[in-house]
Formats: sequence, structure tokens, C-alpha cells
Amino acid sequence: MTIPENIEQRIRKDLKDVRDYVPIEPADMLSQRVDIGIEKVIKLDGNENPYGCSNLVKKALAEFPYYNHYPDPEQRKLRKALAKYIGVSSKRILAGSGSDELIDLILRLFIEPGDKVINCPPTFGMYSFSTAICGGETVNVPRKRDFTIDTMTIKKTIDKITKVLFLASPNNPSGNVSSEAEIGELLDTGIIVVVDEAYAEFSGSSIKEFVGKYPNLIILRTFSKWAGLAGLRVGYGIFPESIVRLLMKIKQPYNVNIAAQIAVMESLKDIEYLNNTVKKIIEEREQLSKMLSQLSWLQVYPSQANFVLCKVLNGNAVDIYRKLQRKGIFVRYFDSPELQDFLRISVGKPEHTNSLIAALNEIC
Ligand code: PMP
Repeated sequence: MTIPENIEQRIRKDLKDVRDYVPIEPADMLSQRVDIGIEKVIKLDGNENPYGCSNLVKKALAEFPYYNHYPDPEQRKLRKALAKYIGVSSKRILAGSGSDELIDLILRLFIEPGDKVINCPPTFGMYSFSTAICGGETVNVPRKRDFTIDTMTIKKTIDKITKVLFLASPNNPSGNVSSEAEIGELLDTGIIVVVDEAYAEFSGSSIKEFVGKYPNLIILRTFSKWAGLAGLRVGYGIFPESIVRLLMKIKQPYNVNIAAQIAVMESLKDIEYLNNTVKKIIEEREQLSKMLSQLSWLQVYPSQANFVLCKVLNGNAVDIYRKLQRKGIFVRYFDSPELQDFLRISVGKPEHTNSLIAALNEIC
């Protein structure tokens, strides 16, 4: 066999033009980039938890003696603990390396080349990214001006090759939830509806009462946000039992590492601490929203998550984003046509809110 000159010619044609998912950068890289000490960096770009994880997690991870062993491929203890937390059978639960991995696994399971996946932008970028990687076609049904979903158009868009609909509730980046009535209406269409509840602990609302009622419902959750474990990568889904069995077959055997499994189980022993940080974040979200609303050039959208979306009314979002960076404050700017004038700001500690507001007042 001859050695090809240009090995890229052999890659899947449909992957040649895949648009990158633009992830956030870790704090040390941001610190280097703007030449500001890491302790001074204010990171409000990743919807991460500024209070960190439970101390029980840190202690258990430091003391665990068996990192030389592989984790349980069936995640038995982990699934049992998650099932108790949610109040469903562990047969319905499967964990992933972040809910990102579960988005990919769901698509691998259901999507054949050319199948359609409905996406409701602006929303979390991994749905369309993973759809492309899995050979599916994303069909966008944009949200309305107030970021509520357009159920009527979604229903009209569904055809024989539409397999999956992704719906983040609360939605990232807009922070609003979809109602039970809206989700029920979409489930009644029969397509697989993945309700991504990554931020549910901050909204206090969930569609989990629908579990068992709809065989086409999948709910995704994560420990990245409310439990402060983004760096350990652990999310989980609530699925019909038959789907868990199939996902178990196609997933990497050791997809959730031991540290992540321990961290979840210890977190669930320290719910009081975690609920308290969630409460502080919700209070700070309200304070942040109030202070941002006082700036006449910003329109602040109500949020049920741990971030707030703002529209920059004088059209200078990217400029403000860059100027904040130079001061060591990192917020999220999305370089997409529908979000050109928007900034998404994660909720930090009260001192982060104060520094952000002071910086915004200086800039504008
Ligand atoms: N879903 C939504 C709506 C998100 O915003 C995020 C994180 N940005 C995720 C899923 C991914 O979470 P994880 O860290 O569990 O992969």
C-alpha cells in the first residue's frame, strides 16, 4: 500500500467542515494571557461553582487507597446513590464523563447518517456539535425573542427522519425554563426528547415527575454546576431502562473514573453544604441581576440558573468583553449571529459582583 501524501483526504467527508465547539479556558491560561496573577482572576465565564466542592470529597479523594484499580464499569454504587437522590430506580440511571459524554452517547445510539436532530438556539453548543460528529443533521428551530421555545414550529418541523430533540431547561445561555405543558406537548409527538437539566438545582424545578410516564423522555443532569465538580467530569441521565441497557453496551467500559465516582457519593453525603452554596448562588444571582439592571445600557434577562444573560444595548458586547478581560474579569461572549450583542455572566461570590460592576462602570 502506498503511503498517502495527504492523510487528511481520508477523513470522513462530513467531518471536514464541522464547526468547532468553542470551550472556555482554565484559570491559569487566562491568567497567563492577560498577565494578571491567578488569585486576581475573576472567572465568570464557565458557570462553575465559586464555592468549590464539599470537603468530604477532598478528604475521601486524598485517602482512597485503590487508584491502581479500574472503576466499576457498571457504576453500581454510583447509580444506586444517584437513584436515591433523584427518587427513581437505579436501572434508569447511567453516568457519564460529564453530561457532555451522555449527549454524544445518546446520539451515537439513535442517529444514523442524515437523521435529524432538533435544536432550539440560542442554546448549549454541544447538541449541534455532537450531532455533526455523529453524522446527523441539526435542524434549528430558533427560540422566540423572549427565549421561550417555539413548540408550534418544532411540531411542524418533525418528520420521519427526526429522531431527537434537545431542550435545555433552564436554557444556557438564556436562563429560562420550559414549562411542563410545553415539554409534555413535545413528548406527545413521540420523538425522543432530551431535557437537559444541568442547572435544575438552581431553578428548583424539574420534569422528573414525567419519568415512567413517557418512554421517549431522557433527562440529563450534572455535578459540574451545583456540586462544584466540573473538573472531575461527571453527569448522569435518567433514561427508560431499556436505553440504559443499550447505552451500557456502547459506552467505554470505564467512562466515569474512580475519583469522579467517589466525589459524587461523598457530595451526596453532604447535601446540606451543597444546598447552602446553591442558596448563596441564587441570592447572588438576584443581587447581580439587580445591579446589572441599574446600568441603563444593559438589558438583563431573568434567570433560573447560575448565570445571567445581558443584552448590550449600545452594541458593544465584544468590546466590553475584551476590556473586562484586560482587567482580569472573564465573562462569556458567543461569536454567533444571534448573540452578537449579548454577554453571559456566571454568578460568582458577592465580591466578584462588586468588582464586575465597578469595572463595567469604569468601562462605559
Ligand atoms: N448541558 C448544559 C445546558 C450546559 O450548559 C453544560 C455545561 N456548560 C452541560 C450540559 C455540560 O455539563 P458537563 O460538565 O456535565 O459535561
